[in-house]
Amino acid sequence: MVVTRFAPSPTGYLHIGGLRTALLSYLWAKKNGGKFLLRIEDTDKARNSEEAAQAIVNAFEWLGLAHDGEITYQSKRDDIYAKYIQQLLHEGKAYRCYMTKEELTELRETQMANKQRTMYDGSYRDFNGTPPEGVEPAIRIKAPKSGPIVVKDGVKGTITFQAEDILDDFVIARADGSPTYNFVVAVDDALMGVTEVIRGDDHLSNTPKQIVVYEALGFEIPAFYHVPMIHNAEGKKLSKRDGATDVMAYKEMGYTPEALLNFLVRLGWSHGDQEIFSMEEMMELFNPKDINKSASIYNTEKLDWLSGHYIKNMPNKKLAELLEQYGLMLTSHDKKEILLDSLKERAKTLKDLAELTKEILATPTSYDEKAVAKAFKADAIEVLNAFSAKVSASETLHLPSDYHHLMEEVVNEMGIGFGKIGQPLRLALLGKLSGPGLDSVMAIIGKNETLQRIEHAIAANS
Ligand code: GLU
Repeated sequence: MVVTRFAPSPTGYLHIGGLRTALLSYLWAKKNGGKFLLRIEDTDKARNSEEAAQAIVNAFEWLGLAHDGEITYQSKRDDIYAKYIQQLLHEGKAYRCYMTKEELTELRETQMANKQRTMYDGSYRDFNGTPPEGVEPAIRIKAPKSGPIVVKDGVKGTITFQAEDILDDFVIARADGSPTYNFVVAVDDALMGVTEVIRGDDHLSNTPKQIVVYEALGFEIPAFYHVPMIHNAEGKKLSKRDGATDVMAYKEMGYTPEALLNFLVRLGWSHGDQEIFSMEEMMELFNPKDINKSASIYNTEKLDWLSGHYIKNMPNKKLAELLEQYGLMLTSHDKKEILLDSLKERAKTLKDLAELTKEILATPTSYDEKAVAKAFKADAIEVLNAFSAKVSASETLHLPSDYHHLMEEVVNEMGIGFGKIGQPLRLALLGKLSGPGLDSVMAIIGKNETLQRIEHAIAANS
């Protein structure tokens, strides 16, 4: 069975880069009928991990992703880690190191002065004398001193590190007994039955150490997929300013889960030239072997484009439900359909759509001055009055086309161009010269409101 995991450190929110690896891990597990596990790496006990886990679960819920089973908290597994440390000590694969901080610093300084790689020198590796008094030992693992450490990576290929270049007998438990990062990650991945580790390539350099732990404990090594980082347009690592923020901030900005997930899956994976992927398609087509080998570029325009695509293609019923969070209760069926049909092409985000909707539904309280000067000349008032008279007299105004006919009648009867009615009417209805089709606007606000807005605009501007 394929078992993947997402293993965030509790930063209090789910970060966009984290979400991307979570999504890829989720897709691969689900595609294979496997499990997607969540582990909170809260060995730094100062941070509140339950809250962080909740923030992640909330974000997953918004996005429609869900982890399987219980959440694993590293902070609750000290006994497990202690047991494996004891096992390694017992088997002679780890040992107590009594070097003090001062001695370690001195060692490092000497190595630096001699232009040597800074590393632990193994002085306690084969120690069997009397330990120095008053020093709590750290536990170090016996790492290979030389020879290849091979990381078989599904994205980067086989990477061969030389132990003598990168390793020393690294600490697996500190003097206070607390286990270290690379040790617990390897133990947990093994005990949780993780078969494929999909994570950011900033962790690639940890992998040889984790392999040393796997081998010492006789655990099976999972498959690794190290996903290249997300870069900004300047080719630098994504920072908060570029959008590397809380995933829930994207909800606030009005993006839909569909758009965000589609955006993220393409940041690091591709399938030919295809840009649009539904969740079902992602699941069907995703394979970690196709993860891109180079960094991907975060591009807000692309996100906006995808977001617009999903809004445009969303059923109005669902859109109306999503607009409720902006205080918009679109009840009347016909009007809702006309309104959303006329606006959804123009909105990049749900927030945009809510604003556009509010602009239509609210009577303008001011009129754009330049637009008034341009569009509201004396003949404009005459045209508007003629149009109002027709609207007043009509009993069958429902659809945009009903209003459109009346506009046409005025144009024909007065022998004027369409702009002569379109511009002042737009100003009267919306307070400015931009916006969606006027016939739709009138059909949405209805006959009385149309008449009132015209009357109000004439009174305010003549
Ligand atoms: N906790 C690590 C992080 O948040 C991830 C560890 C891993 O995926 O192995 O960067």
